[in-house]
Amino acid sequence: EKGADVIATLAKSFNGMADSLQSQIKELADLSEVQQRFVSDVSHELRTPLTTIRLAGDLLYDQRATFPPATGRTAELLHTQVERFELLLSDLLEISKYDAGSVDLETEPTNLVHLAEDAIDGLRSLAESKGTQLDLVAPGGHLDAEVDPRRIRRIMHNLIGNAIEHGEGKPIVVSVDSNATAVALSVRDYGLGMSQTDIGHVFDRFWRADPSRKRTIGGTGLGLSIALEDAAVHGGWLQVWSSPGKGSCFRLTLPRTAHGALTASPSPLPP
Ligand code: ADP
Repeated sequence: EKGADVIATLAKSFNGMADSLQSQIKELADLSEVQQRFVSDVSHELRTPLTTIRLAGDLLYDQRATFPPATGRTAELLHTQVERFELLLSDLLEISKYDAGSVDLETEPTNLVHLAEDAIDGLRSLAESKGTQLDLVAPGGHLDAEVDPRRIRRIMHNLIGNAIEHGEGKPIVVSVDSNATAVALSVRDYGLGMSQTDIGHVFDRFWRADPSRKRTIGGTGLGLSIALEDAAVHGGWLQVWSSPGKGSCFRLTLPRTAHGALTASPSPLPP
């Protein structure tokens, strides 16, 4: 029982720490180069203690069935929060690399349909838990582009994951299309959608339409701002169309060749 109290206290203080750290880092992230450097250093420094917390948390999590129910739930909460913290740190490190201009693309000829299939596979269980059907529409033909596959898969994962989160269980259509100079991926959902004001903020760092509702679940509010940087560093675009109650369409357009010029998107966004 004493052990249970210790775990509960630990988890509580850890949650408090994660919340206050997130809000402090949010303020710092908007500041000057020196402070951005600081964000990067802090993120690196936090990785070591976090690894220790993670190991201890995993141990408790694995044994949760042997604890009294309330303690078991606390062990689960700790596990979730540690994951959230790790996600936040890796997103922050990525942002600080972009701010420092030290992002190196590792491009190779990549089939965008295969990448989309990978991203969809990785999100199947999340989709199933919401009863969401995921459809991939891809015409045959040459759908390769010279991109950094890790970064493009991450954008796809983020867009499809968001569509599932905000899609209200309605089917989601992922489509890939192309023209002579560009390959594009669209993710269309028929869920909550967003107001014009929300659309104006959707790529802002840490912005989320409803922070109180989503605070304990999901990502960091950094996903789309990183996706926008990822698209831009490829010389591509990330566009959004959305309407409240009608759903959203996010569209990623990439030049076929690294640093190739983009003239027009292969097909228009929904009206
Ligand atoms: P996160 O998903 O971690 O909150 P993102 O940067 O990916 O961060 O998204 C920021 C916010 O944009 C989300 O919290 C949500 O409010 C809004 N959003 C993103 N995608 C969609 C979508 N498909 N439908 C409605 N809202 C969305």
